[in-house]
Amino acid sequence: MPKPVILHAAKLPAATEAELAARFTLLPLPEGRDQQSAFLALHGPRIEGMTLRKTRVDAEFLAAMPGLQIISSYSAGLDNLDVAAARARGIIIANSAHVLAAEVANLAVGLALSLTRNIVQADGWLRQGHWADGGALALSRSLVGMDIGIFGLGTIGMALAPRLQALGARIAYSSRSRKDLPYAFHPDAQRLASAVDMLILCCPLTPETRHVIDDKVLGALGPAGYLINIARGPVVDEAALIEALQNNRIAGAALDVFADEPRVPAALIADPRVILTPHIASATTQTRQAMADHVVDALTRHFGQPDIIRKTGAVQPAER
Ligand code: NAP
Repeated sequence: MPKPVILHAAKLPAATEAELAARFTLLPLPEGRDQQSAFLALHGPRIEGMTLRKTRVDAEFLAAMPGLQIISSYSAGLDNLDVAAARARGIIIANSAHVLAAEVANLAVGLALSLTRNIVQADGWLRQGHWADGGALALSRSLVGMDIGIFGLGTIGMALAPRLQALGARIAYSSRSRKDLPYAFHPDAQRLASAVDMLILCCPLTPETRHVIDDKVLGALGPAGYLINIARGPVVDEAALIEALQNNRIAGAALDVFADEPRVPAALIADPRVILTPHIASATTQTRQAMADHVVDALTRHFGQPDIIRKTGAVQPAER
């Protein structure tokens, strides 16, 4: 039997690349929009499946692959994919949200602790010799009893909530829909921000959530409030955030994602009340391997080779 033809637009660990190549005929997507258009004009009609990471896949891109059945995404976020156009064609979308949720939630916990307990600043203070010189570091802020708002109580938000509760925090949230859960629900970001000391963003980037965290929401969070973004950069109006920090309208922020990655505004880099990480929430060897396994397993299952799916790589078909 001929192997299914897969457009390959995700860089995976070497062993997983080999596994994928053994099971499928791979067509690696070239870099550059013009090169991609020319490539799709030539090969699009025979493509049956696709791996995806950051490539922008719009309706025109999809139209060039009339036989596409499944997109297997390495990422959780699908903001680079025209999901509606894919769904309208009945194309299956498999993403890795459930595989990486615990890892991303763990980073959010690390950022929440680092931000409130001044871990990064305390490290610098010690290294600069202030402790040895007899200095006294200012007291930090406790997560115990803190009200934390999760904006987007989905796969990652649900993994995060019990972790924060275990640290002693009280959880509130906002989502499109109210859940049957013992957490306080607020219908929008501004009302959530007014009710909490820390706001953690766990929503997808969509037209509705772009810049949803604006000057009003930051004002509602208040001068003692913290912002953590592990979602997507454009969910936050970055200019409004910089202004809020400069005017002491919020206490600090921890950001794993940015509006124009990998560029980070100088004002954020210069601000010691801000912790910056380079989009690493899922970036552990173990989780990245599990995500890569999931990319392969979703395609393998779809194209009818379930007997070779690894036992540990539980695939949830058509998660979306
Ligand atoms: P998910 O399961 O789809 O959950 C998204 C949550 O956001 C849901 O609770 C949803 O509400 C809520 N939401 C969607 N639109 C909203 C709106 N307009 N207003 C308020 N709430 C809204 O997604 P996930 O797997 O948890 O992932 C969330 C995002 O995290 C991804 O899309 C990705 O961009 C980002 N992410 C970042 C990293 C990183 O490396 N930093 C890693 C993984 C993922 P309902 O529950 O009512 O539907």
